[in-house]
Amino acid sequence: MSLLVVGSVAFDAIETPFGKTDKIVGGAASYISLCASYFTKNVNLVGVVGDDFPHEFISHLNNHGVDTEGLQIKKGEKSFFWSGKYHTDMNSRDTLITELNVLGDFDPIIPDSYQNCQYLMLGNLTPKVQQTVIERLTTRPKLIVMDTMNFWMEIAMDDLKKTLSMVDVLTINDEEARQLSGEYSLVKAAVKIQEMGPKYLIIKKGENGALLFHGKEVFFAPALPLEEVFDPTGAGDTFAGGFIGYLAKTDDISFENMKNAVIYGSAMASFCVEKFGTERLVDLNENVLSQRIEVFKKLVHFNLTETNS
Ligand code: AMP
Repeated sequence: MSLLVVGSVAFDAIETPFGKTDKIVGGAASYISLCASYFTKNVNLVGVVGDDFPHEFISHLNNHGVDTEGLQIKKGEKSFFWSGKYHTDMNSRDTLITELNVLGDFDPIIPDSYQNCQYLMLGNLTPKVQQTVIERLTTRPKLIVMDTMNFWMEIAMDDLKKTLSMVDVLTINDEEARQLSGEYSLVKAAVKIQEMGPKYLIIKKGENGALLFHGKEVFFAPALPLEEVFDPTGAGDTFAGGFIGYLAKTDDISFENMKNAVIYGSAMASFCVEKFGTERLVDLNENVLSQRIEVFKKLVHFNLTETNS
């Protein structure tokens, strides 16, 4: 099934306890589309960059089967730039710089060939632009998944609430779920957020896994305990790419299948953090992925044995 991905395509500068990068390629849509390309070969990208953005990365996406007709390249303008620094626990980070540049007045143009997509992934982006994308689609996709972050809650809460009312699934991290709902308990937060629109909610908890909520149902997927976490940037986007990529591949949006999708998303995210930026996501294959899924299965499988006392 065809998947439309919208989101930032960017430069990032990242600092972790293990090292520091200059500007490297990042952006929500870069991670999402690369990751989703392992599940479906029908990935279409809508985004914007300046003419400072490397063509090699765009070719890279194309080699992965990602269609970039919808990626606008603005002459004489600069790409979105984000810089972040991780704390020693690698689970939390501070945003140091956000330069919107081309994202500031981004008008998302949807090529005709992208219309009628069955799956839409709204990666982290100005909520107003996310909303415009939904409005510009001639038929509503079967499933709309949206990601967002605290930055937009701080500067565009009204737009964010409007966009939330138009989507099916929201993915955010625990801190953002608390900020959005004003509730400390994630269970209470999930109730409030579902009332805002999305009938499915995924709360990402970094190395502590992810929770999928739907009405009164909850599913938990762990994150794979890794010896080395090099750079968590993009883990959330990679998770989202795996989640929606798997749903687009299987074309089944039942809660039961969403549980599988959460496991696939978690497995893909576990690769992402092993290297800086998108590096680890470029050369995966089915074999490596299915081995990791097996590790996940073992991690959570147990038999309760009766003891005679
Ligand atoms: P994640 O680590 O999954 O939360 O995503 C990190 C990616 O989000 C980075 O590659 C950034 O370029 C991108 N990003 C950070 N802030 C924003 C923002 N305000 N809007 C859109 N993308 C952003």
